[in-house]
Amino acid sequence: MIWSTIATWEFSLQGVSAAADMLLKGGRALDAVEEAAIYTENDPSVNTVGYGGIPNIEGEIELDAAIMDGYDLSIGAVAAVKGYKNPICIAHKVLTETPHNILVGRGAEEFAAKMGFEKTILLTEEVSKIWHKKKEDLKAGKNSIIGHDTIGIVALDSKANMASGTSTSGSGLKYKGRVGDSPLVGSGFYVDNSVGGATATGLGEDIMKCCTCFYAVELMRQGYHPKEAAEIAVKRTHTRIYEKTGKVGNMALVCADNKGNFGGAANHKGFTYAAASYKCKPEIYEVEP
Ligand code: ASP
Repeated sequence: MIWSTIATWEFSLQGVSAAADMLLKGGRALDAVEEAAIYTENDPSVNTVGYGGIPNIEGEIELDAAIMDGYDLSIGAVAAVKGYKNPICIAHKVLTETPHNILVGRGAEEFAAKMGFEKTILLTEEVSKIWHKKKEDLKAGKNSIIGHDTIGIVALDSKANMASGTSTSGSGLKYKGRVGDSPLVGSGFYVDNSVGGATATGLGEDIMKCCTCFYAVELMRQGYHPKEAAEIAVKRTHTRIYEKTGKVGNMALVCADNKGNFGGAANHKGFTYAAASYKCKPEIYEVEP
């Protein structure tokens, strides 16, 4: 029985372990992706996803999330959603319950309410303090950069179906209404049962310029191992942007194919991912840039 799951950053380990349990018992890739994201969304110590995420410039937490089914390429995504802890679940409902792919802002929130999701306060005391400090730094012209990370997941189930998904609060102190790569198909995620899947984390403004995840999947289609596909896709995106602008944001990718292989790549130090498969237990991997 062949299965696998991989997700960005070591904070995804608990979610990856839960997803691995589901896949081991014959669960669906789509459900495993959702489950992995929920763990991180619910964890207030992860300041870049779901509950306890980083607010925008106006102090509101706006969340982006997406999920894709590699069987028929169906997509559900939400962007700039306020007041809901688990945007991945709303995205999944967009996929199953609507004729659309992406809902944003108030429309997404009204849809979530109709689907029975409960509104929650997402701002924690700790994040509120960080936000106030960074806002002061911004006013004073000091370094106001706040980290931004996404949980991006790819899963392969024992029936050879694949899924991918993302969830993030996006970049800290972002403009109200800003949307990154994470809910955009081909940029922050992609998956096709006939090949494999990819998902990204990093500066969305740059990642979306090269549709990096779609490109990585197409590289796997050409026969590249997921790790090579991730490396080539990151390198191409980095180089293409840097050559004309002289600067490029951090970016990292994880990829998995439909045979149970996986790998990751980054253009910066310190990128980690968690993965598990029919061959290996849940573990954290560190990527060399
Ligand atoms: N890609 C996310 C965004 O731009 C943030 C991140 O993963 O670091 O919204």
